[in-house]
Amino acid sequence: MSGPNIDSPKAGQSGNLFQRLSAHFPSDPASALFAELSDGRRYSYKDVLDVSARFANILVELGVAPGDRVAAQIPKSIEALMLYLGAQRAGAVFLPLNTAYTPTEIAYFLEDATPRVFVCAPESASELAAVAASAGARLETMGVYAPSAGETEGDAAKRAGSLLARGLAAPSDFNDAPREDDDLAALLYTSGTTGRSKGAALSVRNLYSNAMALAAEWRFTAEDRLLHALPIYHVHGLFVAVNVTLAAGGSLIYLPKFDVDSVVKTLPRATAMMGVPTFYTRLIDDPRFTRDVVRNMRVFISGSAPLLAETHRAFEQRTGHRILERYGMSETGMNTSNPYVGDRRAGSVGFALPGASVLVVDPKTGEHLPVGEVGSIEVRGPNVFQGYWGMPEKTAESFRKSGHFITGDLGVIDADGYLSIVGRDKDLIISGGLNVYPKEVESLIDMLPGVVESAVVGVPHPDFGEAVVAIVVPKADAELSETVVIEDLKSKIAKFKQPKRVFFADSLPRNSMGKVQKKNLRDLYAKTF
Ligand code: AMP
Repeated sequence: MSGPNIDSPKAGQSGNLFQRLSAHFPSDPASALFAELSDGRRYSYKDVLDVSARFANILVELGVAPGDRVAAQIPKSIEALMLYLGAQRAGAVFLPLNTAYTPTEIAYFLEDATPRVFVCAPESASELAAVAASAGARLETMGVYAPSAGETEGDAAKRAGSLLARGLAAPSDFNDAPREDDDLAALLYTSGTTGRSKGAALSVRNLYSNAMALAAEWRFTAEDRLLHALPIYHVHGLFVAVNVTLAAGGSLIYLPKFDVDSVVKTLPRATAMMGVPTFYTRLIDDPRFTRDVVRNMRVFISGSAPLLAETHRAFEQRTGHRILERYGMSETGMNTSNPYVGDRRAGSVGFALPGASVLVVDPKTGEHLPVGEVGSIEVRGPNVFQGYWGMPEKTAESFRKSGHFITGDLGVIDADGYLSIVGRDKDLIISGGLNVYPKEVESLIDMLPGVVESAVVGVPHPDFGEAVVAIVVPKADAELSETVVIEDLKSKIAKFKQPKRVFFADSLPRNSMGKVQKKNLRDLYAKTF
Protein backbone atom coordinates (compact mmCIF):
# COMPACT_ATOMS: atom_id res chain seq x y z
CA MET A 1 0.00 0.00 0.00
CA SER A 2 1.38 3.39 -0.87
CA GLY A 3 1.47 6.24 1.60
CA PRO A 4 -0.87 9.18 1.56
CA ASN A 5 -0.38 12.15 -0.69
CA ILE A 6 -0.61 14.68 2.08
CA ASP A 7 2.65 16.32 1.13
CA SER A 8 1.72 16.77 -2.49
CA PRO A 9 0.72 20.42 -2.79
CA LYS A 10 -1.48 19.99 -5.84
CA ALA A 11 -3.50 16.99 -4.76
CA GLY A 12 -6.94 17.87 -3.46
CA GLN A 13 -6.92 21.57 -4.25
CA SER A 14 -10.12 21.66 -6.26
CA GLY A 15 -13.49 20.02 -6.65
CA ASN A 16 -16.07 19.03 -4.08
CA LEU A 17 -15.01 17.80 -0.63
CA PHE A 18 -15.12 14.18 -1.74
CA GLN A 19 -12.91 14.87 -4.75
CA ARG A 20 -10.40 16.73 -2.57
CA LEU A 21 -10.27 13.98 0.02
CA SER A 22 -10.17 11.21 -2.55
CA ALA A 23 -7.01 12.71 -4.04
CA HIS A 24 -5.33 11.19 -0.95
CA PHE A 25 -6.94 7.75 -1.04
CA PRO A 26 -4.44 4.89 -1.26
CA SER A 27 -3.27 4.11 -4.78
CA ASP A 28 -4.34 0.49 -4.29
CA PRO A 29 -8.16 0.67 -4.29
CA ALA A 30 -8.33 -2.74 -2.62
CA SER A 31 -6.99 -1.20 0.61
CA ALA A 32 -9.60 -1.36 3.35
CA LEU A 33 -11.28 1.73 4.71
CA PHE A 34 -13.26 -0.31 7.21
CA ALA A 35 -11.15 -2.94 8.88
CA GLU A 36 -12.50 -5.81 10.97
CA LEU A 37 -16.21 -5.70 10.27
CA SER A 38 -18.08 -7.99 12.64
CA ASP A 39 -20.24 -9.35 9.79
CA GLY A 40 -17.11 -10.47 7.93
CA ARG A 41 -17.50 -7.93 5.13
CA ARG A 42 -14.42 -6.26 3.74
CA TYR A 43 -14.96 -2.68 2.76
CA SER A 44 -12.30 -1.26 0.51
CA TYR A 45 -11.66 2.20 -0.89
CA LYS A 46 -13.06 0.87 -4.17
CA ASP A 47 -16.32 0.14 -2.32
CA VAL A 48 -16.23 3.67 -0.98
CA LEU A 49 -16.00 5.04 -4.55
CA ASP A 50 -18.82 2.79 -5.77
CA VAL A 51 -21.23 3.17 -2.90
CA SER A 52 -20.77 6.92 -2.48
CA ALA A 53 -21.51 7.19 -6.23
CA ARG A 54 -24.71 5.20 -5.73
CA PHE A 55 -25.81 7.55 -2.96
CA ALA A 56 -24.95 10.58 -5.08
CA ASN A 57 -27.07 9.16 -7.91
CA ILE A 58 -29.97 8.47 -5.55
CA LEU A 59 -29.85 12.01 -4.19
CA VAL A 60 -29.85 13.52 -7.68
CA GLU A 61 -32.78 11.26 -8.59
CA LEU A 62 -34.60 12.61 -5.53
CA GLY A 63 -34.14 16.13 -6.86
CA VAL A 64 -31.08 17.21 -4.87
CA ALA A 65 -29.14 19.95 -6.68
CA PRO A 66 -25.80 21.47 -5.63
CA GLY A 67 -26.34 23.66 -2.58
CA ASP A 68 -29.45 21.77 -1.41
CA ARG A 69 -29.43 20.47 2.12
CA VAL A 70 -29.62 16.76 2.90
CA ALA A 71 -30.50 16.12 6.55
CA ALA A 72 -30.01 12.79 8.30
CA GLN A 73 -30.97 11.45 11.72
CA ILE A 74 -29.82 7.88 11.29
CA PRO A 75 -27.99 5.24 13.32
CA LYS A 76 -24.24 4.95 12.99
CA SER A 77 -23.41 2.65 10.10
CA ILE A 78 -21.02 2.39 7.18
CA GLU A 79 -23.85 3.38 4.87
CA ALA A 80 -24.46 6.54 6.91
CA LEU A 81 -20.89 7.61 6.12
CA MET A 82 -21.39 6.73 2.47
CA LEU A 83 -24.49 8.93 2.44
CA TYR A 84 -22.37 11.80 3.78
CA LEU A 85 -19.80 11.21 1.03
CA GLY A 86 -22.50 10.78 -1.62
CA ALA A 87 -24.02 14.10 -0.55
CA GLN A 88 -20.59 15.74 -1.02
CA ARG A 89 -20.29 14.24 -4.49
CA ALA A 90 -23.72 15.62 -5.42
CA GLY A 91 -22.59 19.05 -4.18
CA ALA A 92 -25.16 18.98 -1.36
CA VAL A 93 -24.87 20.45 2.13
CA PHE A 94 -24.93 17.61 4.65
CA LEU A 95 -26.80 18.15 7.91
CA PRO A 96 -26.20 15.40 10.47
CA LEU A 97 -28.58 15.30 13.44
CA ASN A 98 -28.08 13.77 16.87
CA THR A 99 -29.95 10.47 17.08
CA ALA A 100 -31.26 11.49 20.51
CA TYR A 101 -33.24 14.49 19.20
CA THR A 102 -37.02 14.30 19.67
CA PRO A 103 -39.49 15.03 16.84
CA THR A 104 -40.07 18.52 18.29
CA GLU A 105 -36.36 19.25 18.06
CA ILE A 106 -36.13 17.78 14.55
CA ALA A 107 -39.05 19.94 13.41
CA TYR A 108 -37.05 23.05 14.25
CA PHE A 109 -33.96 21.95 12.30
CA LEU A 110 -35.99 20.97 9.24
CA GLU A 111 -37.99 24.21 9.22
CA ASP A 112 -34.78 26.21 9.56
CA ALA A 113 -32.56 24.38 7.07
CA THR A 114 -35.33 23.39 4.60
CA PRO A 115 -33.54 20.29 3.33
CA ARG A 116 -34.61 18.75 0.04
CA VAL A 117 -34.30 15.28 1.58
CA PHE A 118 -34.52 14.14 5.20
CA VAL A 119 -33.36 10.62 6.02
CA CYS A 120 -34.43 9.01 9.29
CA ALA A 121 -34.32 5.53 10.81
CA PRO A 122 -37.07 3.23 9.43
CA GLU A 123 -38.63 2.88 12.88
CA SER A 124 -38.97 6.68 13.27
CA ALA A 125 -40.59 7.28 9.88
CA SER A 126 -44.17 7.32 11.11
CA GLU A 127 -43.55 9.83 13.89
CA LEU A 128 -41.40 12.07 11.65
CA ALA A 129 -43.49 11.98 8.46
CA ALA A 130 -45.62 15.01 9.38
CA VAL A 131 -42.58 16.97 10.53
CA ALA A 132 -40.77 16.32 7.22
CA ALA A 133 -43.87 17.13 5.15
CA SER A 134 -44.50 20.44 6.85
CA ALA A 135 -40.87 21.47 6.23
CA GLY A 136 -41.22 20.47 2.57
CA ALA A 137 -38.56 17.75 2.88
CA ARG A 138 -38.82 14.43 1.14
CA LEU A 139 -38.68 11.66 3.74
CA GLU A 140 -36.46 8.63 3.12
CA THR A 141 -35.32 5.98 5.57
CA MET A 142 -32.07 4.22 6.33
CA GLY A 143 -31.22 1.80 9.11
CA VAL A 144 -28.23 -0.46 9.55
CA TYR A 145 -27.53 -2.87 6.70
CA ALA A 146 -27.09 -6.26 8.38
CA PRO A 147 -27.93 -9.29 6.25
CA SER A 148 -29.05 -12.24 8.31
CA ALA A 149 -28.05 -15.84 7.51
CA GLY A 150 -29.47 -17.01 4.20
CA GLU A 151 -30.87 -13.60 3.32
CA THR A 152 -30.06 -12.11 -0.10
CA GLU A 153 -28.28 -8.74 -0.30
CA GLY A 154 -31.35 -7.29 -1.98
CA ASP A 155 -33.70 -8.40 0.80
CA ALA A 156 -31.33 -7.11 3.46
CA ALA A 157 -31.04 -3.76 1.68
CA LYS A 158 -34.82 -3.42 1.40
CA ARG A 159 -35.21 -4.27 5.07
CA ALA A 160 -32.77 -1.47 5.89
CA GLY A 161 -34.97 1.27 4.47
CA SER A 162 -35.92 3.10 1.29
CA LEU A 163 -32.50 4.58 0.46
CA LEU A 164 -30.70 1.25 0.39
CA ALA A 165 -33.55 -0.27 -1.58
CA ARG A 166 -33.06 2.51 -4.15
CA GLY A 167 -29.33 1.86 -4.06
CA LEU A 168 -29.83 -1.61 -5.57
CA ALA A 169 -30.69 -0.03 -8.91
CA ALA A 170 -28.39 3.00 -8.73
CA PRO A 171 -25.27 3.14 -10.93
CA SER A 172 -21.90 2.96 -9.21
CA ASP A 173 -20.32 5.75 -11.18
CA PHE A 174 -21.12 9.40 -10.86
CA ASN A 175 -20.13 12.64 -12.51
CA ASP A 176 -19.04 14.69 -9.47
CA ALA A 177 -20.68 18.09 -8.97
CA PRO A 178 -18.09 20.87 -9.07
CA ARG A 179 -17.73 22.91 -5.86
CA GLU A 180 -15.58 25.91 -5.01
CA ASP A 181 -13.63 26.65 -1.82
CA ASP A 182 -16.39 28.72 -0.21
CA ASP A 183 -19.36 26.59 -1.26
CA LEU A 184 -21.06 24.97 1.70
CA ALA A 185 -20.43 21.32 2.49
CA ALA A 186 -22.20 20.94 5.84
CA LEU A 187 -24.47 22.54 8.42
CA LEU A 188 -23.88 21.66 12.05
CA TYR A 189 -26.44 22.90 14.53
CA THR A 190 -25.16 24.20 17.82
CA SER A 191 -27.73 24.77 20.54
CA GLY A 192 -28.76 28.38 20.93
CA THR A 193 -27.95 30.35 24.06
CA THR A 194 -31.09 32.37 23.50
CA GLY A 195 -33.23 29.35 22.75
CA ARG A 196 -32.81 29.19 18.97
CA SER A 197 -30.32 26.70 17.64
CA LYS A 198 -27.87 28.06 15.10
CA GLY A 199 -26.67 26.20 12.02
CA ALA A 200 -22.92 26.62 11.58
CA ALA A 201 -22.33 26.74 7.83
CA LEU A 202 -19.08 25.01 6.91
CA SER A 203 -17.51 25.30 3.50
CA VAL A 204 -15.58 22.79 1.42
CA ARG A 205 -12.37 24.62 2.31
CA ASN A 206 -13.21 24.74 6.02
CA LEU A 207 -13.55 20.97 6.23
CA TYR A 208 -10.80 20.06 3.81
CA SER A 209 -8.14 22.38 5.21
CA ASN A 210 -8.82 21.19 8.74
CA ALA A 211 -8.62 17.51 7.78
CA MET A 212 -5.29 18.09 6.04
CA ALA A 213 -3.84 20.17 8.87
CA LEU A 214 -4.78 17.53 11.45
CA ALA A 215 -3.63 14.55 9.40
CA ALA A 216 -0.22 16.20 9.02
CA GLU A 217 -0.04 17.44 12.63
CA TRP A 218 -0.94 14.05 14.11
CA ARG A 219 1.17 12.13 11.56
CA PHE A 220 -1.66 10.05 10.14
CA THR A 221 -0.65 7.67 7.35
CA ALA A 222 -2.16 4.90 5.26
CA GLU A 223 -0.87 2.46 7.90
CA ASP A 224 -3.14 3.88 10.60
CA ARG A 225 -6.14 2.02 11.97
CA LEU A 226 -8.27 4.48 13.90
CA LEU A 227 -10.55 3.03 16.55
CA HIS A 228 -13.78 4.92 15.88
CA ALA A 229 -16.25 4.75 18.76
CA LEU A 230 -17.63 8.31 18.51
CA PRO A 231 -21.03 9.30 17.15
CA ILE A 232 -21.00 10.54 13.54
CA TYR A 233 -23.49 13.38 13.90
CA HIS A 234 -20.88 15.62 15.55
CA VAL A 235 -17.77 17.49 14.41
CA HIS A 236 -15.53 15.15 16.40
CA GLY A 237 -16.66 11.79 15.00
CA LEU A 238 -17.43 12.98 11.46
CA PHE A 239 -15.11 15.78 10.48
CA VAL A 240 -12.14 15.05 12.71
CA ALA A 241 -12.08 11.26 12.90
CA VAL A 242 -13.45 10.34 9.48
CA ASN A 243 -12.05 13.16 7.34
CA VAL A 244 -8.58 12.80 8.87
CA THR A 245 -8.58 9.07 8.15
CA LEU A 246 -9.72 9.67 4.55
CA ALA A 247 -7.13 12.42 4.09
CA ALA A 248 -4.44 9.93 5.07
CA GLY A 249 -5.85 6.93 3.20
CA GLY A 250 -5.96 5.02 6.49
CA SER A 251 -8.58 2.68 7.87
CA LEU A 252 -11.24 2.70 10.56
CA ILE A 253 -12.09 0.12 13.16
CA TYR A 254 -15.65 1.26 13.33
CA LEU A 255 -17.67 0.49 16.46
CA PRO A 256 -21.39 1.29 16.69
CA LYS A 257 -20.76 3.13 19.96
CA PHE A 258 -18.33 3.39 22.84
CA ASP A 259 -18.46 0.55 25.31
CA VAL A 260 -15.49 -0.50 27.39
CA ASP A 261 -15.79 -4.20 26.49
CA SER A 262 -15.55 -3.69 22.73
CA VAL A 263 -12.91 -1.01 23.01
CA VAL A 264 -10.65 -3.13 25.23
CA LYS A 265 -11.07 -6.05 22.81
CA THR A 266 -10.32 -3.95 19.74
CA LEU A 267 -7.51 -1.69 20.93
CA PRO A 268 -4.73 -4.25 20.43
CA ARG A 269 -5.24 -3.95 16.68
CA ALA A 270 -5.64 -0.17 16.53
CA THR A 271 -2.94 2.46 16.11
CA ALA A 272 -4.93 5.57 17.04
CA MET A 273 -8.06 6.54 18.92
CA MET A 274 -10.05 9.74 19.31
CA GLY A 275 -12.38 10.23 22.23
CA VAL A 276 -14.16 12.55 24.61
CA PRO A 277 -12.75 12.62 28.16
CA THR A 278 -15.51 10.27 29.36
CA PHE A 279 -14.02 7.51 27.16
CA TYR A 280 -10.69 7.86 28.90
CA THR A 281 -12.06 7.96 32.46
CA ARG A 282 -14.15 4.86 31.74
CA LEU A 283 -11.13 3.02 30.35
CA ILE A 284 -8.99 3.93 33.37
CA ASP A 285 -11.73 2.59 35.64
CA ASP A 286 -11.52 -0.84 34.02
CA PRO A 287 -8.78 -3.22 35.23
CA ARG A 288 -8.65 -4.92 31.80
CA PHE A 289 -7.28 -1.72 30.29
CA THR A 290 -3.54 -2.42 30.48
CA ARG A 291 -0.28 -1.60 28.73
CA ASP A 292 -0.58 -4.82 26.82
CA VAL A 293 -3.95 -3.78 25.35
CA VAL A 294 -2.42 -0.58 23.92
CA ARG A 295 0.77 -2.20 22.62
CA ASN A 296 0.17 -1.17 19.00
CA MET A 297 -1.22 2.26 19.76
CA ARG A 298 0.54 5.30 18.41
CA VAL A 299 -1.69 8.09 19.72
CA PHE A 300 -4.72 8.80 21.92
CA ILE A 301 -6.45 12.10 21.15
CA SER A 302 -8.99 13.86 23.36
CA GLY A 303 -11.35 16.77 22.89
CA SER A 304 -14.91 18.19 22.91
CA ALA A 305 -14.75 18.77 26.68
CA PRO A 306 -12.02 19.49 29.23
CA LEU A 307 -9.75 16.57 30.07
CA LEU A 308 -8.84 16.77 33.74
CA ALA A 309 -5.10 16.96 34.38
CA GLU A 310 -5.69 14.12 36.84
CA THR A 311 -7.10 11.91 34.05
CA HIS A 312 -4.11 12.79 31.86
CA ARG A 313 -1.71 11.65 34.60
CA ALA A 314 -3.65 8.51 35.53
CA PHE A 315 -3.78 7.53 31.86
CA GLU A 316 -0.05 7.95 31.46
CA GLN A 317 0.63 5.92 34.57
CA ARG A 318 -1.55 3.10 33.32
CA THR A 319 -0.49 3.01 29.68
CA GLY A 320 2.73 4.97 29.24
CA HIS A 321 0.87 7.18 26.73
CA ARG A 322 0.38 10.91 27.15
CA ILE A 323 -3.05 11.81 25.76
CA LEU A 324 -2.87 14.46 23.04
CA GLU A 325 -5.53 17.06 23.80
CA ARG A 326 -6.89 19.39 21.13
CA TYR A 327 -9.51 22.14 21.10
CA GLY A 328 -12.20 22.96 18.61
CA MET A 329 -15.90 23.41 18.01
CA SER A 330 -18.65 22.99 15.43
CA GLU A 331 -18.13 26.51 14.07
CA THR A 332 -14.40 26.20 13.54
CA GLY A 333 -13.36 22.60 13.39
CA MET A 334 -10.10 22.23 15.30
CA ASN A 335 -8.13 25.31 16.34
CA THR A 336 -5.32 24.09 18.55
CA SER A 337 -3.49 20.91 19.38
CA ASN A 338 -0.82 19.74 21.73
CA PRO A 339 2.32 18.81 19.83
CA TYR A 340 2.69 15.32 18.42
CA VAL A 341 6.40 15.47 19.07
CA GLY A 342 7.20 17.44 22.21
CA ASP A 343 5.55 18.05 25.50
CA ARG A 344 1.84 17.19 25.61
CA ARG A 345 0.79 19.15 28.64
CA ALA A 346 -1.95 18.06 31.00
CA GLY A 347 -4.58 20.78 31.31
CA SER A 348 -3.52 22.50 28.08
CA VAL A 349 -4.88 22.35 24.54
CA GLY A 350 -1.56 23.25 22.93
CA PHE A 351 -0.77 25.60 20.08
CA ALA A 352 -2.66 27.07 17.12
CA LEU A 353 -2.74 24.67 14.16
CA PRO A 354 -0.75 25.76 11.11
CA GLY A 355 -2.72 28.43 9.22
CA ALA A 356 -4.90 29.35 12.21
CA SER A 357 -4.56 32.47 14.35
CA VAL A 358 -5.63 31.94 17.96
CA LEU A 359 -5.71 34.98 20.24
CA VAL A 360 -6.58 35.66 23.85
CA VAL A 361 -8.13 39.13 24.03
CA ASP A 362 -9.97 41.47 26.35
CA PRO A 363 -13.62 40.53 25.71
CA LYS A 364 -14.77 44.16 25.83
CA THR A 365 -12.14 45.87 23.70
CA GLY A 366 -10.74 43.04 21.63
CA GLU A 367 -7.22 44.11 22.71
CA HIS A 368 -4.58 41.42 22.66
CA LEU A 369 -3.78 40.33 26.24
CA PRO A 370 -0.28 39.64 27.55
CA VAL A 371 0.94 36.16 28.41
CA GLY A 372 -0.67 34.79 31.57
CA GLU A 373 -3.87 36.88 31.45
CA VAL A 374 -7.25 35.25 31.07
CA GLY A 375 -9.42 36.49 28.21
CA SER A 376 -11.72 35.62 25.36
CA ILE A 377 -10.40 33.06 22.85
CA GLU A 378 -10.81 34.28 19.27
CA VAL A 379 -9.81 32.45 16.13
CA ARG A 380 -9.31 33.08 12.44
CA GLY A 381 -8.19 30.74 9.67
CA PRO A 382 -9.30 28.59 6.76
CA ASN A 383 -11.07 26.35 9.30
CA VAL A 384 -13.44 29.08 10.56
CA PHE A 385 -17.03 28.76 9.34
CA GLN A 386 -18.91 31.00 6.91
CA GLY A 387 -21.56 32.13 9.39
CA TYR A 388 -24.81 31.00 11.00
CA TRP A 389 -27.39 29.75 8.52
CA GLY A 390 -30.00 32.44 7.87
CA MET A 391 -28.78 34.61 10.78
CA PRO A 392 -26.70 37.46 9.36
CA GLU A 393 -26.98 39.52 12.55
CA LYS A 394 -25.88 36.69 14.83
CA THR A 395 -23.02 36.05 12.43
CA ALA A 396 -21.95 39.71 12.42
CA GLU A 397 -22.01 39.80 16.25
CA SER A 398 -19.80 36.75 16.44
CA PHE A 399 -16.89 38.16 14.45
CA ARG A 400 -14.41 40.99 15.10
CA LYS A 401 -13.51 43.37 12.28
CA SER A 402 -10.21 41.51 11.99
CA GLY A 403 -12.15 38.44 10.93
CA HIS A 404 -11.60 36.64 14.25
CA PHE A 405 -14.48 34.51 15.51
CA ILE A 406 -15.43 35.04 19.16
CA THR A 407 -15.56 31.49 20.47
CA GLY A 408 -17.22 32.16 23.83
CA ASP A 409 -14.44 30.20 25.56
CA LEU A 410 -12.08 31.79 28.05
CA GLY A 411 -8.39 30.96 28.00
CA VAL A 412 -4.86 31.89 28.87
CA ILE A 413 -1.61 31.49 26.94
CA ASP A 414 1.52 30.73 28.96
CA ALA A 415 5.09 31.86 28.37
CA ASP A 416 5.76 28.79 26.19
CA GLY A 417 2.76 29.55 23.99
CA TYR A 418 0.49 26.79 25.32
CA LEU A 419 -3.22 27.66 25.45
CA SER A 420 -5.33 26.47 28.39
CA ILE A 421 -9.10 26.76 28.49
CA VAL A 422 -10.14 28.07 31.86
CA GLY A 423 -13.87 28.50 31.44
CA ARG A 424 -16.65 29.68 29.24
CA ASP A 425 -18.08 33.09 28.63
CA LYS A 426 -21.11 31.33 27.23
CA ASP A 427 -23.69 29.63 29.41
CA LEU A 428 -22.94 26.12 28.30
CA ILE A 429 -22.86 22.68 29.90
CA ILE A 430 -20.83 19.88 28.32
CA SER A 431 -22.10 16.47 29.41
CA GLY A 432 -20.31 13.42 28.02
CA GLY A 433 -18.85 15.66 25.28
CA LEU A 434 -22.27 16.93 24.13
CA ASN A 435 -23.33 20.55 24.52
CA VAL A 436 -26.39 21.58 26.48
CA TYR A 437 -27.50 25.19 26.56
CA PRO A 438 -29.27 25.81 29.90
CA LYS A 439 -31.62 28.36 28.39
CA GLU A 440 -33.31 25.74 26.25
CA VAL A 441 -33.97 23.47 29.25
CA GLU A 442 -35.02 26.37 31.51
CA SER A 443 -37.57 27.62 28.97
CA LEU A 444 -39.25 24.21 28.94
CA ILE A 445 -39.27 23.86 32.73
CA ASP A 446 -40.68 27.38 33.09
CA MET A 447 -43.65 26.39 30.93
CA LEU A 448 -44.70 23.68 33.41
CA PRO A 449 -47.73 24.59 35.52
CA GLY A 450 -46.69 25.49 39.04
CA VAL A 451 -43.21 26.75 38.12
CA VAL A 452 -42.22 30.34 38.92
CA GLU A 453 -38.76 30.08 37.39
CA SER A 454 -35.80 27.77 37.06
CA ALA A 455 -32.05 27.69 36.61
CA VAL A 456 -30.13 24.90 34.93
CA VAL A 457 -26.44 24.40 35.68
CA GLY A 458 -23.69 21.87 35.06
CA VAL A 459 -22.09 20.22 38.09
CA PRO A 460 -19.12 17.84 38.21
CA HIS A 461 -19.98 14.25 37.37
CA PRO A 462 -17.49 11.36 37.58
CA ASP A 463 -18.52 9.84 34.27
CA PHE A 464 -19.98 12.63 32.13
CA GLY A 465 -17.59 15.39 33.21
CA GLU A 466 -20.58 17.61 33.87
CA ALA A 467 -24.19 16.67 34.61
CA VAL A 468 -27.28 18.77 34.02
CA VAL A 469 -29.03 19.82 37.24
CA ALA A 470 -32.15 21.99 37.51
CA ILE A 471 -33.11 24.24 40.40
CA VAL A 472 -36.80 25.07 40.34
CA VAL A 473 -38.76 27.70 42.24
CA PRO A 474 -42.33 26.38 42.62
CA LYS A 475 -45.53 28.39 43.17
CA ALA A 476 -46.90 28.20 46.72
CA ASP A 477 -49.62 25.64 46.00
CA ALA A 478 -47.84 23.75 43.23
CA GLU A 479 -47.82 19.98 43.17
CA LEU A 480 -44.39 19.55 41.71
CA SER A 481 -41.83 16.86 42.26
CA GLU A 482 -38.54 15.86 40.74
CA THR A 483 -40.29 13.06 38.84
CA VAL A 484 -42.95 15.39 37.42
CA VAL A 485 -40.29 17.68 35.97
CA ILE A 486 -38.12 14.87 34.60
CA GLU A 487 -41.10 13.03 33.09
CA ASP A 488 -42.34 16.19 31.39
CA LEU A 489 -39.02 16.80 29.67
CA LYS A 490 -38.65 13.23 28.40
CA SER A 491 -40.72 13.73 25.27
CA LYS A 492 -39.45 17.24 24.60
CA ILE A 493 -35.68 17.15 24.60
CA ALA A 494 -32.94 14.64 23.96
CA LYS A 495 -31.86 12.53 26.94
CA PHE A 496 -28.43 14.14 27.27
CA LYS A 497 -30.13 17.51 27.88
CA GLN A 498 -32.55 16.23 30.54
CA PRO A 499 -31.61 17.09 34.14
CA LYS A 500 -30.21 14.17 36.09
CA ARG A 501 -31.46 15.79 39.30
CA VAL A 502 -34.07 18.46 40.04
CA PHE A 503 -33.92 20.49 43.25
CA PHE A 504 -36.48 22.92 44.63
CA ALA A 505 -35.72 26.31 46.19
CA ASP A 506 -37.71 29.29 47.50
CA SER A 507 -35.79 31.67 45.23
CA LEU A 508 -32.78 31.84 42.94
CA PRO A 509 -29.64 33.73 44.02
CA ARG A 510 -29.32 36.98 42.04
CA ASN A 511 -26.74 39.75 41.80
CA SER A 512 -27.51 43.45 42.03
CA MET A 513 -28.31 43.53 38.33
CA GLY A 514 -30.90 40.80 38.83
CA LYS A 515 -28.82 38.19 36.99
CA VAL A 516 -29.09 34.66 38.36
CA GLN A 517 -25.77 33.75 39.97
CA LYS A 518 -25.15 30.41 38.44
CA LYS A 519 -21.75 30.12 40.06
CA ASN A 520 -23.41 30.05 43.50
CA LEU A 521 -25.74 27.31 42.34
CA ARG A 522 -22.88 25.32 40.82
CA ASP A 523 -21.00 25.55 44.13
CA LEU A 524 -24.08 24.64 46.14
CA TYR A 525 -24.79 21.50 44.12
CA ALA A 526 -21.17 20.64 43.31
CA LYS A 527 -21.22 17.45 45.37
CA THR A 528 -24.45 16.03 43.94
CA PHE A 529 -22.71 13.15 42.12
P1 AMP B 1 -18.92 21.48 19.96
O1 AMP B 1 -19.32 22.57 19.04
O2 AMP B 1 -20.03 20.57 20.35
O3 AMP B 1 -17.73 20.73 19.47
O4 AMP B 1 -18.46 22.17 21.34
C1 AMP B 1 -17.43 23.09 21.34
C2 AMP B 1 -17.10 23.51 22.73
O5 AMP B 1 -16.56 22.41 23.45
C3 AMP B 1 -15.97 24.54 22.75
O6 AMP B 1 -16.44 25.84 22.50
C4 AMP B 1 -15.42 24.37 24.15
O7 AMP B 1 -16.22 25.06 25.09
C5 AMP B 1 -15.56 22.87 24.36
N1 AMP B 1 -14.31 22.16 24.10
C6 AMP B 1 -13.90 21.52 22.98
N2 AMP B 1 -12.69 20.96 23.14
C7 AMP B 1 -12.30 21.26 24.41
C8 AMP B 1 -11.14 20.96 25.20
N3 AMP B 1 -10.15 20.23 24.73
N4 AMP B 1 -11.11 21.45 26.47
C9 AMP B 1 -12.13 22.18 26.96
N5 AMP B 1 -13.25 22.47 26.29
C10 AMP B 1 -13.34 22.02 25.02
